[in-house]
Amino acid sequence: MKIEQEVKLDFIDVLIRPKRSALSSRSAVSMERTIQFKNSNVNWTGVPIIAANMDTVGTFEMYYQLSKHKMITCFSKHYDVSDYPDDLDKEYYMISTGINENDWKKLVSVMKKLDAKFICIDVANGYMKKLVDFVKQVRSTWPEVVIVCGNVVSREMVEELIINGGADIVKVGIGSGSVCTTRIQTGVGMPQLSAVAECSDAAHGIDGAIISDGGITCPGDVAKAFGGGADFVMLGSMLAGHSECAGELIEENGEKYKVFYGMSSSTAMNKYNGGVANYRSSEGKTVKIKYKGPVESTIHDILGGVRSTCTYIGANRVKDIPKCCTFMRVNRQVNTIHNGKEV
Ligand code: 5GP
Repeated sequence: MKIEQEVKLDFIDVLIRPKRSALSSRSAVSMERTIQFKNSNVNWTGVPIIAANMDTVGTFEMYYQLSKHKMITCFSKHYDVSDYPDDLDKEYYMISTGINENDWKKLVSVMKKLDAKFICIDVANGYMKKLVDFVKQVRSTWPEVVIVCGNVVSREMVEELIINGGADIVKVGIGSGSVCTTRIQTGVGMPQLSAVAECSDAAHGIDGAIISDGGITCPGDVAKAFGGGADFVMLGSMLAGHSECAGELIEENGEKYKVFYGMSSSTAMNKYNGGVANYRSSEGKTVKIKYKGPVESTIHDILGGVRSTCTYIGANRVKDIPKCCTFMRVNRQVNTIHNGKEV
């Protein structure tokens, strides 16, 4: 047994220190990045924010809105080959896959139809050798595809997936998601900001990239994830509850809601696996979210927030956020006196 004494941090544990800045307007900030991926040797330019590959969020409707802003949608792996529209722009979506035999067969047929630019190989526990083997198989089959894989939260597995697996981007986050119960069910996880700092340091040392996945609650958290070194930020709950999300709109006592559930929740397992197998437990929640209307206003809120962060710290581009960012550890982040009283 070993105990690490160093405190690990979440977004809520820090604030970003403002600094003298020559930027006079948020409109002067560039939210776009161009990234050259290491193993595929492919370039991408866009706004590095991604809709999570969850049933309710990783939808085609979400893609049509996000792609207007050059943001990416990671589609749910549960779409059938025939569901994919013909007019998708490869720059702004990822297809998802698990790592079993059936997943491989489906991936091959989806690739035949789409020839996608990004493949996201997604498992809850990215520490399995089986993931590395699957990543290798994908890399040898499609040398020029951008491989995203995860989830992990520590240096050694980032290196393993990029150097030995052939991945380009590693997805970082265990237990931080809004509908995730992994920490309760297993006791395993890592506070998200520290996970991002450690994994980005590992990835950038070998020309890899990372996605901060899970735990974003507000635009300020997106800025903090970039500040911690994330190349991309993935959003589930912040994009949930909109008209572009899958799932019914429910009305209760005059209020409208949409259901949002984890991909390891009993809702998802009942839908896809015929129930929760008797050797496992659910590691996700099902919640109802107040209906937020079209996602466009949330996109504006997020991009406006991050642009404003940039003007506070003197970052001309989203790429410059880490080098301009000093975090301060804090005991209290926000004044809550009026919570619940907004009109
Ligand atoms: P959010 O942005 O809602 O905080 O987090 C989204 C992320 O939570 C997803 O991208 C995924 O990594 C993670 N996630 C989604 N469903 C589940 C689940 O059922 N269990 C766990 N442990 N994580 C989940």
